[in-house]
Amino acid sequence: MIRLDAVARQPLHLGTQPDAGWLTDTHRFIPGSVVRGALAASWLGRFRGPRPDTSSDDEFLRLFEGGLRYGPLYPSDDALRPLSVFGCKYACDGDAPVDAAFTEDLPARCPACGSPLEASRGSVTGGQAVENTRLELDRDGRAVEGKLFTRRALAAGTRLTGLVDGDLDAECGWLGEPDLLVRFGGRRSTSGLTELRATPVDERPRFDGYDPASRRLVLRMLSPGIFLDGLGRPSWFPDLVEIGTLLGVGTTVASAYLRPATVGGWHAASNLPKPRDFAVAAGSVFVLQLDGDPGVVGLDRLWRTGTGLRRAEGNGWVSLDRWRAPAPIQQPSRSARRRSDALVIEVLGTGVGAEFVSDLRAWAQTGGGSDAQAGQRVLLGARRYGSLGESRLNVLRKALDLPPDEAAGLAQRLSEYLVVQTSRRGARR
Ligand SMILES: [Zn+2]
Repeated sequence: MIRLDAVARQPLHLGTQPDAGWLTDTHRFIPGSVVRGALAASWLGRFRGPRPDTSSDDEFLRLFEGGLRYGPLYPSDDALRPLSVFGCKYACDGDAPVDAAFTEDLPARCPACGSPLEASRGSVTGGQAVENTRLELDRDGRAVEGKLFTRRALAAGTRLTGLVDGDLDAECGWLGEPDLLVRFGGRRSTSGLTELRATPVDERPRFDGYDPASRRLVLRMLSPGIFLDGLGRPSWFPDLVEIGTLLGVGTTVASAYLRPATVGGWHAASNLPKPRDFAVAAGSVFVLQLDGDPGVVGLDRLWRTGTGLRRAEGNGWVSLDRWRAPAPIQQPSRSARRRSDALVIEVLGTGVGAEFVSDLRAWAQTGGGSDAQAGQRVLLGARRYGSLGESRLNVLRKALDLPPDEAAGLAQRLSEYLVVQTSRRGARR
């Protein structure tokens, strides 16, 4: 197994219906199918010419259409709340979520505030979404009624993590290259750029979803599971014969917490859509009763293999670890957001916003290098800023002094504003 750690250098717009009205939302995670697609595009860009024919490219097929599995990337390993977890309906500060897969004594009400408990819907915590609202203006610069669009994205600086089932020293060596950059979920140059770091996984998971005393194993789906019954019909349940073979012991389903989903996809080699399949959603949980002790070897085999169909596309990832509520993340303060709002206007007021935005974006990626002060002097000494007075240069310095993720966010907002401006003038787009 390989661990992939991702840091978004630009906001990530991830897989939503584009026609959802005025709001386009984003996933708070990167599906395994998207990881695979982005890596395949990056690999082709690196090792093959433009418009390559992948249909008979053995190496491509082995890496991206064969046995290698690409897992989803989440803000943390426990960011996806399993459907078996019950918590305070109003998520109050005293919320103490309980995993029904491990206990039969569910409290009736939230111990802190007395509200009813509610089952998880498979939400993902820890990914911070930012909103970008644009409005359409008429010729006189007035807002057109009803033409207000909000696009959500995971913020630049967001960190995500997940697994690839492969060997970094052998077939996946290229993933170990430093500064591996891929683009997730976007065709535009202003979103999706993400830095990846791959490291080999040396340790086994805890596998504490297995209780040797009761011989119960809690299996939770980290990505959708596509299952068929004995007659080849879509099923809610995984193939227990296959799971039993992997574990080395017979197994039955004691209980399950499920939601339906559908899985589509794109066949990279033939460039054709894949059929849509019925699936159980990521976050679904199966409590399995085992006939005997699978041992660490059996658990490891099931964890590495996953379950169900279309696993090479990122489906069927399982965790055999007991879920633990992730620590709450620090949201950027309201004052930080207001500071950034004010800076957008100030930077545009300097009259060099269009020139500065690409400098700022590059700056956010390097943090100015080893000597930030000297780097600033060199940058602002460039001829394109030569006509600015001290007060306008100070505005640019303020932007360059921001922490890298805030600077990247500012660059993003500036560039979106500039695109709107130029498109209104009809100069571009
Ligand atoms: Zn409560």
